[in-house]
Amino acid sequence: MNKLTVAKFGGTSVADFSAMSRCADIICHDQSIRVVAVSAQSGITNILVRLTQADVSDAERLDLFKQIRDKEQAILSDLNNPESIQVALEHLLVSLEKTANEADIATSERLKDRLLSFGEQMSSLMFAEVLRQRDVHAVNFDIRQIMKTDSAFGHAEPNIELIKQQAQTSMMPELAGSVVVTQGFIGSNDQGETTTLGRGGSDYSAALIAEALEADVLQIWTDVIGIFTTDPRLTQAARPIPEISFDEAAEMATFGAKILHPATLIPAMRRDIRVFVGSSRAPNEGGTWVVNKAKTKPAYRAIALRKDQILLTVKSPQMLHATGFLAKVFGILAEHKISVDLVTTSEISIAVTLDNPSNTTTKAISDAALTALKAFCDVKVEDNLSLVAVIGNHLESSLRENQLWKALEKVNVRMICQGASPHNLCFLTPTAAAPSVVEQLHNALFD
Ligand code: ADP
Ligand code: ASP
Ligand code: MG
Repeated sequence: MNKLTVAKFGGTSVADFSAMSRCADIICHDQSIRVVAVSAQSGITNILVRLTQADVSDAERLDLFKQIRDKEQAILSDLNNPESIQVALEHLLVSLEKTANEADIATSERLKDRLLSFGEQMSSLMFAEVLRQRDVHAVNFDIRQIMKTDSAFGHAEPNIELIKQQAQTSMMPELAGSVVVTQGFIGSNDQGETTTLGRGGSDYSAALIAEALEADVLQIWTDVIGIFTTDPRLTQAARPIPEISFDEAAEMATFGAKILHPATLIPAMRRDIRVFVGSSRAPNEGGTWVVNKAKTKPAYRAIALRKDQILLTVKSPQMLHATGFLAKVFGILAEHKISVDLVTTSEISIAVTLDNPSNTTTKAISDAALTALKAFCDVKVEDNLSLVAVIGNHLESSLRENQLWKALEKVNVRMICQGASPHNLCFLTPTAAAPSVVEQLHNALFD
C-alpha cells in the first residue's frame, strides 16, 4: 500500500483563509497526506471557554457570538459564499449559540464539551471546502464516529481498541478516493455524547488516528519550525532540534512544552510512527523529526516551562513513626481523580504539584478532595508557581554541574525533583521568575 501520512494543522495554521491556503499547498504537494486533522481557528476555543463561565453577562455573550461569527464569515466570504457551506455554518452557529444559552452551561461538564466542540467542527467544514476549491476531493468527516472515549468530559480518555476498529471500518474506506478532513480535540462517549481530550488535544487526536490507521508518518504543522531547545518565545537563543528521540520529546511535552500535547507521542511510540513537527508558514525551512532512536543523545536536550502550577502540601504530625500516610494521601488523590506531577516527602509531610491551567473548563483540585484531606491532616495550597524542567540524558548525575547552580543563584527555588528519571531535572519556582530562570539555564547549558 502507498505511504500514509496523517497531518494535523493547529489553530494558527487554520486561523484564516490565507493560513488555510498555505496548509492546502502543503497537502497538494504531498500525495501521502490522506487524513487531515484540524484545530479550531486560533482564539475560538478560548472564546468558547469564556462562554462557559458563570460571570459572562448577556452583553458579553452577544459580543463573543459576534466575534465567532465575524471570524467564520470572513473565511466564508473568501470562499465566495458557497451555499452548502453557508447553510452548514449557520446550522453550527445556531447550535453553538443555543448551547451557550443553556441555563446550566456553567455547571454541566457535558454541555461545556458540546460547546467547545464547535470550534473544530467549524474549522473542518471550512478547510474541506478550501481543499475542494483546489480540486482536491475532500470530505469533512465527523471524528466522533470513531474517536470513542470515556465520559470524563473536559479530559476524556480514548478507547484505543474501539478507535482502531471504528477507524478501520468507517474511515479507512474513505481514504481510497478522498482526502479526509476531520476534527482534532473532540470525541464521543458510548452514548454518542460529545467529549474533548483537554486543551491542546488536537495533536493527541492526530496521533490516535495515525495509530488506528497504521500510518507511516504523523505531521504536526504549527507556527514554529520544529521543536526548539526551549520555547522560542522565551529566549532568542532557542534553536531548532533537527532530530529528537520519542523519550526526550515525550518528556518535553509532559513538562509543558506547548508544542505537543503531553500524550501525543504515546500512540506514535506504540506503533513506531515517525513524527514530523514543522511550520505551516515556512514548510520549506525543515523541522524536527521525532524518532524511536535519535542519532545523538546529548546530556542536555531542552528546557521546558509549565506555568499554572499548584503546590499542595499535606502535613500530619500524628503520622510520625506511623505507617500508611503516603498510601492514605494518594488514595484520596486517586479517588478524586487528581493527577500529581512532582512529589517530595518527609516523614510527616508530602508536597505534590498539580497542573492548574487557565482557560480550561476543569479544576486542578476539587473542594471535595480538599475536604477529604483536611479531615486527617493540615493542608496548604500555594499557587503562582511554575515548573522548569531540564530534559536530557543521564541527568541523575548533573547536580554536580556548577553552571546549573549558577543559573539558579538568585532564584527562590521552591522545590527540586531529581533522581526518579534520568531524563529530567525539575525546579518549581515563582511564576514571575520562571521565564528568566529558563533564559539563564538556557545560556548556561546550551551556549
Ligand atoms: P498549535 O496551535 O499549532 O497547536 P501551539 O500554540 O499549541 O500551536 O504550540 C506552538 C507553540 O509552542 C509555539 O508557538 C511556541 O511558542 C510553543 N513552544 C513551547 N515550547 C516549545 C519548544 N520547545 N519548541 C517550539 N515551540 C515551543
Ligand atoms: N482547539 C483546542 C484548543 O485550543 C485543541 C487544539 O487546538 O489542539 O485547546
Ligand atoms: Mg497545540
